Amino acid sequence: MDRQSSRVLLRTVGLTKAFRGLVALRDHSIELHEREIIGVIGPNGSGKSTLFNLITGFSQPNSGSIEMEGRSIVGLRTSQIVAMGIARTFQGSRLFGSLSVAQNVLTAAQLRHPVGAADTVLRGRRYRERVAATRQKADELLDLMGLTDQAGRVAADLPYGDQRRLEIARALATGPQLLLLDEPAAGLDSNETKVLAALIRTIRDRYGVTVVVVEHDMDLIMALCERIQVLATGEVICVGTPEQVREHPKVREAYLGHA
Ligand code: ADP
Ligand code: MG
Repeated sequence: MDRQSSRVLLRTVGLTKAFRGLVALRDHSIELHEREIIGVIGPNGSGKSTLFNLITGFSQPNSGSIEMEGRSIVGLRTSQIVAMGIARTFQGSRLFGSLSVAQNVLTAAQLRHPVGAADTVLRGRRYRERVAATRQKADELLDLMGLTDQAGRVAADLPYGDQRRLEIARALATGPQLLLLDEPAAGLDSNETKVLAALIRTIRDRYGVTVVVVEHDMDLIMALCERIQVLATGEVICVGTPEQVREHPKVREAYLGHA
């Protein structure tokens, strides 16, 4: 893909986050272009989830900036960040376990376009149209993720691999421009991981989203991503294509050395 001609969707500059003296992320900068699939890899504790927490407003940086389409998003509430088109999954499952599969997706779809009691303008036909559109979108996402047959089941009862795909469906239901996936292949076998990689590509192609995939496992990232950033103990040690990253001496030393 020609990154020169594509727009920057999100940019971090000099992002730093410390927890009581422990620097979880130091001076992090990246530009995420429209429709890119980018990997962020690094051993456990290298700051990957911290980066997602900062971008999505779950925690606040000590310094540095985060801009979405040129607008600062630091200090916005998580709900405002969802409304700006940023969605994520979590490293540990955070499904609404007692709700059905379909309700998980529908609930998320309503986060982007909440219909409150005060929304009197939306009563009547427009309200019904919006509800119907939300249902249709939820059905489409369940179909895409291979979950249509499971729609009525309680989410907590699904097999693990299905739960992981439901998390992605739920994130997509908010209609994001930027999708952040935190270790989506964790716990999946190699076949499930291949299916997931194909799904992530389909998601990008169909919805035109930018996808950031965080993993500590290299295989999915190497096969899937157009560009990769490598973190080690909170610092960026290199950015490049899968080939460049594989050959980078610092990566070999800091990362592959442990493999
Ligand atoms: P990764 O996702 O790459 O495994 P994290 O971003 O979760 O790494 O963590 C980076 C570092 O920050 C780790 O040393 C972790 O223990 C620390 N850390 C993350 N979140 C917190 C927190 N809420 N409080 C204290 N330390 C934290
Ligand atoms: Mg993590």
